[in-house]
Amino acid sequence: MTLPVVEGYIIVEKIGSGSYSTVYKAFKKEGNRDVVAVKCVDKVKLSGSAVDNIITEISLLKKLKHEYIVEMKDFSWDTRCIYIIMEYCGGGDLSCFIQKRHKLPEATCKRFLQQLASALKYLRSKNVCHMDLKPQNLLLTSRVNPKLKLADFGFAQYLSDEDHQSSLRGSPLYMAPEMLLNTQYDARVDLWSVGVIAYECLFGRAPYSSQNFQELAEKIKSRLKIEVPHGSHISKECRDLLNGLLKHDPSSRIDFEDFFKHPFLDLEHMPSEESYQKAIALVKEAVVKDSEKDWSAAFKLYCDSLLYFIPIVNDEVDAQKRMALRARVDEYINRAEDLKQSLNGLEPSCSSKSQRAVMDNIIASSSSRSKLEHMAVVTPSLATALDIGKYAEQYLLEGQYSLALEKFESALNIMIPILSQEPPGPRRELLHQQIKLWLERAENAKAFISLFQLDSSSVENKEQDLGCKAGASHQPILNEDNLA
Ligand code: ATP
Repeated sequence: MTLPVVEGYIIVEKIGSGSYSTVYKAFKKEGNRDVVAVKCVDKVKLSGSAVDNIITEISLLKKLKHEYIVEMKDFSWDTRCIYIIMEYCGGGDLSCFIQKRHKLPEATCKRFLQQLASALKYLRSKNVCHMDLKPQNLLLTSRVNPKLKLADFGFAQYLSDEDHQSSLRGSPLYMAPEMLLNTQYDARVDLWSVGVIAYECLFGRAPYSSQNFQELAEKIKSRLKIEVPHGSHISKECRDLLNGLLKHDPSSRIDFEDFFKHPFLDLEHMPSEESYQKAIALVKEAVVKDSEKDWSAAFKLYCDSLLYFIPIVNDEVDAQKRMALRARVDEYINRAEDLKQSLNGLEPSCSSKSQRAVMDNIIASSSSRSKLEHMAVVTPSLATALDIGKYAEQYLLEGQYSLALEKFESALNIMIPILSQEPPGPRRELLHQQIKLWLERAENAKAFISLFQLDSSSVENKEQDLGCKAGASHQPILNEDNLA
């Protein structure tokens, strides 16, 4: 196979090909020798005027810079191809990620949706809509702790008509009904696609998965109601978001503003440059109040800032940066703890106290978990369990004890059988340690549930999913005796 020649880059290998292009891994000849992906778009497969349009579109896309959008670094062309030089994403695409795992835990789905929503929010601020959202266009940065990056926007519009009609490789499955039925459509088609992607993440298949285009068109025309598969347990917030996104009529569909504010996404506390700045601003205010001896206000501000800081620490992939950040966050926790002591009669509410303790604990333990995460690369089910457990910790921190318990139990149900097969060695030790810790946390969550009688949203959620009564105690299904 002959590799293409692209000026300024050394092409290393082919990554894959789509209906109108082939993508190669490459690195820059000069400077920092950045690894990149080079997408070679075959001009023959494009309709005549589309070539000019694509070049115009590329110039626009070059201006888009966002953490969750694949960065377009450069482009060039010759008589045969257009070459798009992009940021390299080494984790494959979301479609393969789902296929390998069959379906994803709700917490993983939430994280990916947060990242996708964040990219869409940015695109909206630039008046750009994607119009071809599908799991194949959502790339992942790496195999461990992957971050999602939106790719390929705009190009599908420039495909020749022939390609559009015959290309059944996934795309029509994610297209909004108004787009497929040839009526007028607008940016809201992206919201439908997000709904289909979320559905596929959670249940392993698109809601209208079909054998052929006719079957799909029939289902769409008949406005067949999209149901959550029987026996699936998803939270009330998640179900509500799916229902809002998967509305056939775009005017009844959730709008962008409500989508970005939706509680399932909780974009407010999602790790980002913005949330980091908020955390910093809050902590600065806390320090001022502290120096003014307004301890009650200072304590609250430290706690508020920690709610932003903790997800940032958990999300940091770089071990050194995480350590540095953790050391800093530890200082704020310690100061908050000191303040709590000096508040005496003005003790914070019960749930805040327990949350502080939980935070402290979580921070202290995230180092061993991250070591384990690196060792879990070869065991996808363990990686999934660690992911679920991480979100359980987050729920615990947020005071969503019922959800936390449910996630700890799911994680432990996967980890305990793995431990029983694990040969002696550091991985086994870390695994054992992690299981013990999460067993304790699951017990804590249980204690909080009976202490606070569950918050109303979790109660409804549990009732709906499990048919159980509010405040009913959870029986321990796992304990240390289960450990090998
Ligand atoms: P189609 O173009 O028909 O919709 P597609 O999106 O799979 O299909 P391409 O965009 O050409 O086709 O991608 C081909 C392969 O290259 C896919 O496996 C995709 O995951 C991979 N790929 C695309 N861009 C990158 C990138 N920036 N980094 C790493 N891999 C990439």
